[in-house]
Order: sequence, then C-alpha cells, then structure tokens
Amino acid sequence: KNDPLEQWDRDTFLHPSTHWADFARGKAVHRIISSGEGSHIVDREGKRLLDAFAGLYCVNVGYGRTEIADAIAAQAKELAYYHSYVGHGTEASVTLAKMILDRAPDHMSRVYFGLGGSDANETNIKLIWYMNNILGRPEKKKIISRWRGYHGSGLMSGSLTGLAAFHNAFDLPLVPILHTEAPYYYRRPDVSMSEEAFSAYCASELEKMILKEGPETIAAFWGEPVLGTGGIVPPPKGYWAAIQEVLNKYDILLVADEVVTGFGRLGSMFGSEHYGMKPDIITIAKGLTSAYAPLSGSIVSKKVWAALEQGTDEMGPIGHGWTYSAHPIGAAAGVANLKLVDDLGLLENAATVGAHLRKAMSDAIGDHPNVGDIRGEGMLCAVELVSDRETRAGWDDQKPAVTAVARLLADGVIGRAMPHSDTIGFAPPLCLTKAEAEEVAEKTAKAIKGTFGS
Ligand code: PLP
Repeated sequence: KNDPLEQWDRDTFLHPSTHWADFARGKAVHRIISSGEGSHIVDREGKRLLDAFAGLYCVNVGYGRTEIADAIAAQAKELAYYHSYVGHGTEASVTLAKMILDRAPDHMSRVYFGLGGSDANETNIKLIWYMNNILGRPEKKKIISRWRGYHGSGLMSGSLTGLAAFHNAFDLPLVPILHTEAPYYYRRPDVSMSEEAFSAYCASELEKMILKEGPETIAAFWGEPVLGTGGIVPPPKGYWAAIQEVLNKYDILLVADEVVTGFGRLGSMFGSEHYGMKPDIITIAKGLTSAYAPLSGSIVSKKVWAALEQGTDEMGPIGHGWTYSAHPIGAAAGVANLKLVDDLGLLENAATVGAHLRKAMSDAIGDHPNVGDIRGEGMLCAVELVSDRETRAGWDDQKPAVTAVARLLADGVIGRAMPHSDTIGFAPPLCLTKAEAEEVAEKTAKAIKGTFGS
C-alpha cells in the first residue's frame, strides 16, 4: 500500500467525471491499471478483472491486440505526424477513410476526422450551420436532441447531451439546443401504452416542438440509435421510422450519434442500419480504433456533401480544423482495428454472445423483486433496479446500483452504475465468450442479492 504512484495520483492528477470532494473525505478511488488481454484487465496490485464495460464502451476488439499495437509502432517509426489541412493526407488516413465508407450505409459520402466523440459532434454542428449558410438559410440553426441523450461534454456537445449533470453549473444548454422526450419505454408516461403507441407519442412530441419553434428554424435532430449513458435504452418498436417521418416532413437533418453503436456493438456494422435509419451525418469514435488511439469522425451523406461542395468563394474555406484531425497514428490503429473486427467475426459474436448475456441475466436474476427491467441490444445489457416492481419506483437518495457494482467489482467483474438512473450497465468487448457472459450474469445476480439482503 506504499505505492508511490498512488501518492502521485492523489497529489497531481485531476480525474474527469469525478466527485473531487471525495479527495478531502479520503473516499477517492485510486486504481491504476497496468495491463490487459482479451476481456480482462490487471491492476497494479495484480488483481485480474473481467471488464464487462470495455473501458468506456470502447475497447471493442478486446485488450492486448498485437496487430493494432504493431500497426501503431510501424506508423510512429515511418511518419508520426503530418496534418490533413488543404488536401494533405497520409497513407493511413486515406486508407481508413476508404475503409469507413466501404462499411457505411450506401448513401454516405465523405468522412471528416477528429479526436473524440465530443469534438466530432462539435464538427457536425459547424458542418450543418456552414451548409445552411451555403444554402442561403442561415436562420435554420436550432437543434433538437433528447433528454437522456449523451453526445459529449464540450460546450456545444454538452448542450446536446440531455443529462442535468452536464448542464448544471455551466449555463447549458446553449440557446439553439432543445430537448425532447427520451424513447424510454420502461419509463413511459402511461403503462398501458404499447411500444408502437409510445413511439407515436415521442414522434408527436417532436412534431409539436418543431411547430412551436417554426420548422424553418430547426436544422437537425440528434440521437444515439440506442441511448447509452442515459441508461442503455433501446428504442421501442417503430421509434426511428416515426421520428424519420417527422424529420422528412419538415426538412430537418438526422444526425445519428454512433460513437457507441458504430462498428459492431449492436451486431450490425452501424446502428443506423440496424434500425433502418437514414442519417445525414453519422458520428463515430470509440469502436473506430477500439480506443487503441484517439480518433473520431463525422461521416456525411451525399446530400450534405452536395451542398458543402458548393461553398462560395465569398465564404472561403471552412473555418474549422484540428491540428490532430486524421492523426496518422489513430488512423493506423483504425485500419488495423477494422480489419480485426472483420477477421474475428465480431459482429456475429456481438449478436450471439450479447443475446446469451441477456438471457443468462434474465435466468439468473429476472425474478428478483428489485429487478424492474433487463434490456439491451447486441453487446449491450442493462439491469434496472426498482424498489417496487409494480409501481416501478426507484430511490431518491439511495443508490443500490452503486452498491451492487462495488460488490461485483470485489468479485472480479466490472459493470457500470449508469450515472443517471438506478441501472447497472454492461457493454463488454465484442469478443466476449459465452463462458465470460455467464460469469458476468452469475456474479451480477450474486451482487444484487447481496445488496438487497436476499
Ligand atoms: N457520443 C456518445 C454517444 C458517447 O457515448 C460519447 C462518450 O461516451 C460521446 C459522444 C463523447 O465521446 P468522447 O468522450 O470521446 O468525447
């Protein structure tokens, strides 16, 4: 316990998404991770943990893939950096752009690279506003996203996010961002509503907002195919078709934030494809490189590109670029990663093992009086805890999901107490095995029973 690294961590490191008051209370977590292989990581004390959240739903191909590590090393030796401004590129970045487009829905056309999901969403807003300027309708600026959506933590991307913790203290959301109903079927306003009826209700709430604001002022609608950080919530039946119809009616773009769902997490290459969405822009990050290096992207459709390529000389080049856009090391990681996703058959594995995980979870704990809902899609699974199954009531100040996740961790499995609901979330690497899925379910059941005393 006299580890100098732990002391340095305490004394120097400002951790993100952390309750900093815990430092003074001596309650802060200091866990230093040393290595990883497959679905497991090992901490500095030598404890091996099954990481059923793949870092932050990002290490899709699993840890310790030498194919990606070697590609990164080779790129660093050959050419660690060159920029991508004004027509420049590197072999890795151009190859990756081609590989992404080969995998994206047919109506997509170009990719703009960034570093992470938040900045990619900032880019998308600028692309849309720039496009509307080219089209002579600069007043079409407002953006609608959903309560419980997560789109990042910058000032604009944090405004898109529909979670109070990302708004409080920062005067967010910024003016042009509005939030509509989350497609959270378990929490529907009227229990007697069918999934289809709830989808129609969400679409009608959206339409009401559009009409109130004026359709000519609304540029785009933003949504994750499956709500992630807001509680791992797949949409009810018919949701995306109903939303798409409203957007088409009022000439409003659809941005699919596929930072979590892109490249296989739902068992399909993209969530858009999985739900029959027709997005105008797709945000990608995480699974693009399996987080072996930071890289994100905005894939724009043929329709958006057709407008962007008409940029006027009066407007000049777009005032938007990052030094590290299309960084060659991230791009080399992306090329090797996407090859692995294919070679290892990870889409198929995500679909079958993900379904096995949810089934094992239902078998193990589905009847527990404090388990309200077990849901998910592909390699995503959520267990929502309730104090009463009948009323679906949660807790005001007690956080049993936090307790259950701590018990689960002590038993060697990492899950996540979803920050904004009484839900335990799982988003394992897409290479999870059936035996590992069973271990996650069995230990989760044990942790939940331990939390509630039986
Ligand atoms: N969009 C979604 C759907 C996400 O889940 C996240 C991160 O979890 C982001 C955007 C933000 O990505 P980043 O943390 O890389 O900025």
